[in-house]
Amino acid sequence: MDAGAPFKFPCPICAQRIAALPADVGTTGGCPGCGSQFLVPNPGVPVVAGEKTGRAAKRLPLWKMVVGAVVALGVIWVVGVALGVIPFRLAAPPPVPATAVEK
Ligand SMILES: [Zn+2]
Repeated sequence: MDAGAPFKFPCPICAQRIAALPADVGTTGGCPGCGSQFLVPNPGVPVVAGEKTGRAAKRLPLWKMVVGAVVALGVIWVVGVALGVIPFRLAAPPPVPATAVEK
């Protein structure tokens, strides 16, 4: 890896991608997006805000949570149907109108 190659890292505050040089590592930089001050991290090292070590936000993307919830509900439904706890048809068919005309 080229020691002089610029790299990008996410702002610890607003997650905007910021370009920096290896010479900037360990120096204080300012985010062009939110204006916050932070230390430029080493490339490839997880960003840690200030001295709060081990408190890096570990959030799942929303779509992953949605997919996980749908999959979990599907598994619960399939298991419920297999055990006979949940009827296969959740809704009864609509009743036939009593006024249906017969030929
Ligand atoms: Zn920022």
